[in-house]
Amino acid sequence: MEKNNKFTIIAGPCAIETKDQFFDTIRHIHNFTDVIRCGVWKARTSPNNFSGQGDKALTWIQQASKKYNTPVAIEVGTKHHVEIALKHNINIFWIGARTTTNPFAIQEIAETVKGLNTEIWIKNPIFPDLELWFGAIERFKRNETQKIKVIHRGFFSEKKSNYRNPPRWDLLKKFQDKYPNIPVICDPSHIAGNRKLVPNTTEKAIKMGIRNLMIEVHNQPQKALSDSKQQLTPLEFIKLIEQLN
Ligand code: PEP
Ligand code: MN
Repeated sequence: MEKNNKFTIIAGPCAIETKDQFFDTIRHIHNFTDVIRCGVWKARTSPNNFSGQGDKALTWIQQASKKYNTPVAIEVGTKHHVEIALKHNINIFWIGARTTTNPFAIQEIAETVKGLNTEIWIKNPIFPDLELWFGAIERFKRNETQKIKVIHRGFFSEKKSNYRNPPRWDLLKKFQDKYPNIPVICDPSHIAGNRKLVPNTTEKAIKMGIRNLMIEVHNQPQKALSDSKQQLTPLEFIKLIEQLN
């Protein structure tokens, strides 16, 4: 918590789309961001959707991390993702909500980071089945991952809601009862699904005692190739963070 007094802020674009988009976003927000987040390989529902810039974006991440002296977290879904990211000095990885549900992928990633000093942040599964979340955590624990955190990104619901993924604070509470020592990061962007609801959701998370926040920010959200509606502009993001601090 170097840049923000009360909170650890993790922010950056849903996905790196171009070198310019990435650097322009980070240039605006780095003073307010303890860790940069960005997607390199996007797990998209349809193969026709933008799936990230892949391996070549890792060089840009390495440059940005050095330039702004800020660590970077990325999503990994395979052994290859982990291995090539490590070669680029990236060692904070999050597991996406889709991957948390896949025991083979989790096992493979857990074995790949065994004995390394990496941080692993495990997102809750899309569907409100806590056992899948617990199972992923246990696989990392068995493979001796020391630094585990979780990301609360809300849960799919068939009921009509203002949220893209309703937060289900009751389920988070159940999680915390089982794992009181695992730090929770809240991802209000994927809970809200639209930028207007992000500040409110952030405040609610803080009221629930959460001190780590992961927020999507894009230099031109209207043009974003993924999660366009929920990404904040750098100005909106800075305003939100200033209100929190
Ligand atoms: C993301 O963080 O951009 C993402 C894809 O999130 P989730 O896995 O929670 O859907
Ligand atoms: Mn996203």
